[in-house]
Amino acid sequence: MGRQTRHVTVAQGRPETLGAMDETNLRAQATIDLAALRSNVAALRARAPRSGLMAVVKADAYGHGMVPCARAALEAGAGWLGAATPEEALALRAAGITAPVLCWLWTPGGPWRAAVEADLDVTVSALWALREVSEAAAAAGRTARVQLKADTGLGRNGAQPAEWPDLVAAARAAEAAGLVKVTGLWSHFACADEPGHPSIAAQLAVFRTALETAERAGLRPEVRHMANSPATLTLPEAHFDLVRTGVAMYGISPVPQVGGPAEFGLRPVMTLSARLASAKRVPGGHGVSYGHHYTTPGETTLALVPVGYADGVPRHASGTGPVLVAGKWRTVAGRVAMDQFVVDLGGDSADAGDEAVLFGPGDRGEPTAEDWARAAGTIAYEIVTRIGTRVPRVYVGT
Ligand SMILES: *Cc1c(COP(=O)(O)O)cnc(C)c1O
Repeated sequence: MGRQTRHVTVAQGRPETLGAMDETNLRAQATIDLAALRSNVAALRARAPRSGLMAVVKADAYGHGMVPCARAALEAGAGWLGAATPEEALALRAAGITAPVLCWLWTPGGPWRAAVEADLDVTVSALWALREVSEAAAAAGRTARVQLKADTGLGRNGAQPAEWPDLVAAARAAEAAGLVKVTGLWSHFACADEPGHPSIAAQLAVFRTALETAERAGLRPEVRHMANSPATLTLPEAHFDLVRTGVAMYGISPVPQVGGPAEFGLRPVMTLSARLASAKRVPGGHGVSYGHHYTTPGETTLALVPVGYADGVPRHASGTGPVLVAGKWRTVAGRVAMDQFVVDLGGDSADAGDEAVLFGPGDRGEPTAEDWARAAGTIAYEIVTRIGTRVPRVYVGT
């Protein structure tokens, strides 16, 4: 592809030098184009010119590799990083990243003390969490950075409108005691990917009321934020001080019914490819893969693609998933197995070692993650995020 490769990351995100693992001989690889990621961050910043940008890198950056993606996003001007769990946020700090990091998915007894000492912004949705973070701050002899989350209608985390005034008052009291500083107020949309959905305006109204309540109670947060990728792209009135972009930063449209990545100036970051483990002639009437859900219609060439559901290729895409082999789109023949699947090359030929591209940006004629999402009855978020740790990430455009 003519781009320079820096390093390969193997299982569990542990960076390894290439050593014995010759990159040209990989069984499969997820090529991660960090130049595309940086340009996506720039495109998203241009969409929300008066707001900061939080690069959401939870779930190993949606399968793209958390630390390299976090660094690339910061280089491109992201001012914040967002993680779901405190463990993810602490891993960013362990990698030496000093930018502001928010994490939001806590359970009782979580690593509050470590988070306070690492200067993470922690999210509090309920009084039990405020109590735990205040105790950790007292024990550490530091002020915890706390962001309060309002449930404006999603029905997951966040304080309900009826609980919000009490949570705000308790947070203000903890501020007065020097235990916490309320750095942010935020919420999350339920249906931002369906522009015009009535819940969007309703949630915005509830959020504005929650902000006023907090203001009246004396809270002066650094940032107020609500927009995920779809709201960043389609709802400027939701941008507030910060937009929290995940999937769009990885070059996937969060609103495929409105437009693909190119319509929003985005470019897919991940390309998933593999090298054929076998290509062989078989007679007509030959059953293929478990259950024989596919039978060759005539004498043909079968190619074996050595990735399966353990690598994140959805078994739901059995008989439907698209893959570019020998210059053409093919369809998974029969079932996707744990480690491999088969494609029927019809009258064409191929050799073991030839490249099969499952998805990528699409400009070499390959399918996209969105195509796989349609084939498997899911969303492209899930396609990229589930690519397994057995698939090395190869970073280009570094
Ligand atoms: C995952 C997540 C995001 C990012 O959502 P995208 O649709 O991928 O942009 C933003 N905020 C919160 C709270 C999230 O959990």
